[in-house]
Amino acid sequence: MTDLAEQWRAARPSTAGVHLDSAACSRQSFAAVDAAAAHARHEAEVGGYVATEAAAPALHAGRAAAGALTGFAADDVVFTTGATHALALLLSDWQGGKKIACLPGEYGPNLVVMARRGFHTVSLPSDGEGRLDPDAAARALADERPALAHVTMLGSHRGVVQPVAAIAAACREQGIPLIVDAAQAFAHLDCADTGADAVYTSSRKWTAGPRGVGLLATRPGLLTDQARADLAHAEVNVAAHLGLSVALGEHVAAGPRHIQARLAEVGAQTRTVLAEVPGWQVVESVDEPSAITTLTPPDGVDPLEVRARLIAEHGIVTTRAGVERAPGEMTRPALRVSPHVDVTTEELELLAALLTVLR
Ligand SMILES: *Cc1c(COP(=O)(O)O)cnc(C)c1O
Repeated sequence: MTDLAEQWRAARPSTAGVHLDSAACSRQSFAAVDAAAAHARHEAEVGGYVATEAAAPALHAGRAAAGALTGFAADDVVFTTGATHALALLLSDWQGGKKIACLPGEYGPNLVVMARRGFHTVSLPSDGEGRLDPDAAARALADERPALAHVTMLGSHRGVVQPVAAIAAACREQGIPLIVDAAQAFAHLDCADTGADAVYTSSRKWTAGPRGVGLLATRPGLLTDQARADLAHAEVNVAAHLGLSVALGEHVAAGPRHIQARLAEVGAQTRTVLAEVPGWQVVESVDEPSAITTLTPPDGVDPLEVRARLIAEHGIVTTRAGVERAPGEMTRPALRVSPHVDVTTEELELLAALLTVLR
């Protein structure tokens, strides 16, 4: 194992099986869990509001780390309850037109948020893999004149990395604000130079923070003062914010570039091993620089059942991704495999062997 992998494993409780599900929820470290627990205890000792004041420097450090990782300042970053909450906040607060451009492979629950808030979508052009075509997209933006553009930098349903900086440049030229969903990209890919006007993420995925928390970074002026004031006065789970702040600190200490490089290697390794499984098709190219791998099953095999049996019989955690995750792009459910930096070849080979017989 690499040093990074060893440190990652040593920093958290051991798994009950094989965890290949960081795109759904990574495993928290002892330090993140302990920080949240210690804060809850401190609330009981000194009072919740006094404890929050004491936690302010650590929370500020968390926002500063999230800002540095997304190209924003600490004051541009707010904690949310998740990625979906961040998008809902942005769209509810938006004072302009309601035409929003996104890719055909846009995350299904995001499309629901957009529709509920009265937005209608126009498509940005993409290639056969679902990857944005920057030149065609620039022309589409000029023709369609949407009020906003929204790009999910890395999907939940497919490990294809979107060329966000290219679309950001086109948006800037047209004066169209760009919102980036980095729920899968943050703490996984380099998000520091997206050029977006807003970037949001959840905590529990590649960052390995607690559940029920997220982050939203916006350029000054994008959110109204009223929205910022509402956020400042909302009741929040301070303990979870601290857990996330500690996870961010650990990510920065481990070296974001180091983690990005290792996760790209993990993706290539996963796809190489799983390509050998008869009947299953790996969707991504081997060298796609993400650690999300999806597989379409052989005819007659239900990924939901395969996922359940892998957990029940072998303690192997993966995700079944249904077509509702990307209704404009997926035609069949897939099995998603998303290991973190510590995966071993033996673990991937075990999964490959089981997929070969589970049919
Ligand atoms: C998980 C996910 C979300 C939603 O995140 P929550 O924190 O659960 O709201 C949004 N977009 C993508 C691409 C995701 O993978």
